[in-house]
Amino acid sequence: MQIKSAAIYQLYLFFDCDFTIEKPERMTLEPGVYIYTGRSKRWIEKRISRHLKQMKPLQWHIDQLTTHPQMTKIKYHIFNLPAEMECYLNQSLEQEPDFLRFIPGFGNSDCHACRGHLAQFKANFNWEQFCEKDFND
Ligand SMILES: [Zn+2]
Repeated sequence: MQIKSAAIYQLYLFFDCDFTIEKPERMTLEPGVYIYTGRSKRWIEKRISRHLKQMKPLQWHIDQLTTHPQMTKIKYHIFNLPAEMECYLNQSLEQEPDFLRFIPGFGNSDCHACRGHLAQFKANFNWEQFCEKDFND
C-alpha cells in the first residue's frame, strides 16, 4: 500500500573505498558515510523505494551514489518534521563530531541556503544515534 504523504528523509550511504562521481563536477570521494537529505512532496514510500533501487535511469545527483558499484550499504530514515525543516536538518549535520564537509552544489538546486545536500562523514559516524535526536526542541 502506498501512503500519500510528504516527508523529509535522509539516506545513509556507506563506501569502503574511493569512488568517483561526475556531477555537479567530476570528483573522487574518500571512503566513509555519506548522508543525503531530501524531501518528498508526496508518496514518500515511492521515493524511498526508488532510491533503494540499484538499476534506474540517472535523474538526480544522488542517483550516482545509490547506483554506484562501490556502495556497500544504504539505510534511510524518515523524519516526522514539517517540510520547511529540510535545510535545517541538513545543516545540523555540521554539528556532529564526525562531520567532514558538504559536497558543494550536490543535490541542492532547489535550495539556496545550503552548500550541498550531501554531507561526508568519517566511517564511524553514529547515524542511528543522530536519527534518535529530538529536532522539535
Ligand atoms: Zn538546503
